[in-house]
Parts: sequence; structure tokens; C-alpha cells
Amino acid sequence: MNVHEYQGKELLAKFGVAIPAGFAAFSVEEAVEAAKKLPGPLYVVKSQIHAGGRGKGKFKELPADAKGGVRLAFNLDEVASHAKEMLGNTLVTVQTGEAGKQVNRLYITDGVDIAKEYYLSLLVDRATGRVAFIVSTEGGMDIEAVAHDTPEKIATVTVDPATGFQPHHGRAIAFALKLKGDTNKQAQLLAKQLYDAFLSLDCAMLEINPLVEDVNGKLLVLDTKMSFDSNALYRHPDVVELRDETEEDPAEIEASKYDLAYIKLDGNIGCMVNGAGLAMATMDIIKLHGAFPANFLDVGGGATTEKVTAAFKIILSDPAVEGILVNIFGGIMKCDIIAAGIVAAAKEVNLSVPLVVRLEGTNVDLGKEILNNSGLPIVAANDLGDAAKKIVAEVKKA
Ligand code: ADP
Ligand code: MG
Repeated sequence: MNVHEYQGKELLAKFGVAIPAGFAAFSVEEAVEAAKKLPGPLYVVKSQIHAGGRGKGKFKELPADAKGGVRLAFNLDEVASHAKEMLGNTLVTVQTGEAGKQVNRLYITDGVDIAKEYYLSLLVDRATGRVAFIVSTEGGMDIEAVAHDTPEKIATVTVDPATGFQPHHGRAIAFALKLKGDTNKQAQLLAKQLYDAFLSLDCAMLEINPLVEDVNGKLLVLDTKMSFDSNALYRHPDVVELRDETEEDPAEIEASKYDLAYIKLDGNIGCMVNGAGLAMATMDIIKLHGAFPANFLDVGGGATTEKVTAAFKIILSDPAVEGILVNIFGGIMKCDIIAAGIVAAAKEVNLSVPLVVRLEGTNVDLGKEILNNSGLPIVAANDLGDAAKKIVAEVKKA
């Protein structure tokens, strides 16, 4: 789960992190009211969407030479005019894809007199199984280019969970950022605060880009991107409250209501599978036979007719889907119950694309009989390879 920049900053402030003052705003009036509460004379009006690259982003509805999604304002009138141009419009950035994202919220914050921009992020490094800090002296808007062109300018500091964060981690981070004197000390403290926040909030990723040093030598967090481990959200009701469903894929929201693990992908073969491992294998084998999965979907161990129907509807709501492959292993669930569920669901949704079903496990013969006698054009498959071949062939035929 992701949150907006202003929400991430509010969470980090509780850990003592130094952040410029700012307020969220949902209308032009609120934006001006927010600015009035700030000292001025420089304000920054920031579009709040779940994507980075806003500064260099473009609004679909505005002329090509219009300013991006992060703008400086030198008085209240400019705050108002920027807010007016952003709210309700669609911001396209390198991270949103062509469709862009509609801006429904703004963050009005203190303008900072920046001396230098740095990059700092924390993530769970899968290779080492540890939390890692990734830092660079080359912060700002193009960290991807830095990583690509000058990877030596990016340093990694990993933290052993057995010892936790130690003062030497802070020193290594401040050293990698080439900071001196008091700014160096501020960076060490900040690293500790961010590590505490990352762990306590069960973050998956926490990115500060840019971290800035202002003209008075103060280190400030100017932008945050935060995402949370969804398996740990039950421990953080306050974080769950920050969820903004308008930023998420509607099909994924629908799936989460039925406890279905659904992720939309780019291909044209819809998959309905039980068990994450089997779902991965199914996607792999579809690719092996020359096609691409339209989604990852794990209906879970205890799939009911209701769940299977919901899953069918979600798969079919994707206009790219040209065929469906159902691959179910009846372990806890029996194959006849699953087959009955598939038939009922296929009838209810008026299935219009080819459907290949591969069942294995308890009561498999009974299950196959139910599919064969259903009167529906369901193609039965004998094993995983057979199923993949058949659905790829069916989709090519259609
Ligand atoms: P994004 O990463 O989505 O483009 P940022 O919040 O990083 O958005 O803003 C882009 C750039 O705008 C920053 O690199 C910084 O130079 C400038 N900026 C952002 N916030 C402020 C601020 N409060 N004061 C001054 N400049 C800012
Ligand atoms: Mg940024």
C-alpha cells in the first residue's frame, strides 16, 4: 500500500524527522488558507498523486509549455492560480504511464532555499535479507539516470537485523553523502530516525528524494515516497486509514473485497489459479507457449462459488482478456465443488471467451464429469502443459 507525500511526511514527523511545514488542500480556497498559515514569502504547491516525477510531469489539459506538478509560488494569488490549474487535471509523469493520474489533492508547503539536493532511501534488500540504505550525493529529479550512467555515485549501507541500527551506520551514510560538521551530524540522526520509522511502520520502501541542505546548513526532507508491507497492515490501523482508493486499480480493489490476490498484467490470457506458487507456474508456462498472462490471480485454498464468480467477473472486466485458463489443484477443496463453482460462475457471467480448465486432486473424475455435462464450451485439459497449449491455441483461433 502507498500513501501520499504529505501523509508520509506526517508519519515521519512523529519520529522527529525535520520536515518543512505544510498542509494538505482539496480545493483552491483550502490551498490559499493553507498558505496563509505558512510564513512565506515562498510557497510550493505540490500535486499529490501516488507517483513520482511530478516536477517534470505535464498536465494533459494544459498547454505543453505549462509548468509541472510541483510549482513555486511567490504570493497567495500564485498559490491560487497554481491550485486551480492542478486540481481536477491529469498529471502525466514518467511513473504514471500515458494515462496519467487525476490530481485531487494538493500539498502546500514552505519554500526552501536549497543549497544542495541528496538522495536517500531505505528498502528491504532481498539479496541480503536486510534493510538497506541507498544514498547518493546526486539527489533531485533524475536518480534513475544516476543509477544508470554513474552507478559509482550510489552507495549502499545494509543493517544487520541482529544488531539493529548502530552509530557506525549513521557515520557511513553521512560519509557517503560527503557531509561535514553539523550537517554530517544531522544526517546521522536522520538516518536513525528513518530506520526507526521504517521498522516500526513495517515499510516496504521509504524514499527521500530530494533530501536537501538549505542555505543555512539545515538538512530537510523535501519529498517522500512511502510504501507499506501489506501483510503487516493489520498492525497499523492508522496507516490503513490513509489508503486512497482513487489511486488504486479498481479491479484490484474489487478483488481485495473477496480476499482474492489479483494483480493486473499486460497479456491477454486471464488466469484463475489456487495457490501463489501454482499461479506463478501457470504464468510461466503460458509464456513458454508463446502468450502472456493478463493477470496473476490466486483464489486461495478455500474458494467458494461466490469467490470463483467474483474472480471470473474481475478477469472479464479487463477488456484485454481473450481467453481464460483455470488451473486448480483440489486439495482442501474438492474438484467437484470447484467444477460446480466454475459452471455456475461461467453461466452467471455469460462467458464469451474460450475457457480451458485443468483440474487435479480429490474427486477429479467427478469434477471433469460436471464440466463435460455442463453444456458450456469448456475445454478440459489433462495437465499444466496441455492446458497452456490449449488456451494459447484457442485464443489464436478466436
Ligand atoms: P517529484 O519527485 O515528484 O518530482 P519533488 O517533491 O521531489 O517531486 O519536487 C521536485 C523538485 O521541486 C525537487 O527536486 C525540488 O528541487 C523542488 N522542490 C520540492 N519541494 C520544494 C520545497 N518545499 N521548496 C523548494 N523546492 C522544492
Ligand atoms: Mg522527488
